[in-house]
Amino acid sequence: MHYTGPVYRHPLEANTPILEITYGCSWNKCAFCNMYKGVKFGASPMEHIEEDLQELAGVYPHNLQKITVANGDPFALSTKKLLEISDMIREYFPEISVISCQTSIRNIMHKKQDELNQLYEAMYDDIYIGVESGCETC
Ligand code: SF4
Repeated sequence: MHYTGPVYRHPLEANTPILEITYGCSWNKCAFCNMYKGVKFGASPMEHIEEDLQELAGVYPHNLQKITVANGDPFALSTKKLLEISDMIREYFPEISVISCQTSIRNIMHKKQDELNQLYEAMYDDIYIGVESGCETC
């Protein structure tokens, strides 16, 4: 698997495979957070994502229902890219019904309503938002 820097697993995702599609956090400035300090934010190459899906397909069942995309801020990617990734996930796991991720409220706010609807239709419907969403200045 291509994992870059620390990878955090939400407790509710204890049994969910983690697929890296970004690394670090695109904001990385919250005063209280050192999760991705020292990791420059970036997007994983599509070939790495596909290689990791091939590896996961050798371990997890074909009828896997849920996958987590990481790391800190996948919604920093364009909607087009996120839809390409969800299409690729379903090539390997056709019965996926939920794609979960952690992301910052800023990157959700940067997407239009119709984009959010498309992402929801593409199974991005279990999104964890951190406490940074409650602070204007952190
Ligand atoms: S947005 Fe989240 S991951 Fe990024 S610095 Fe803030 S708390 Fe940490």
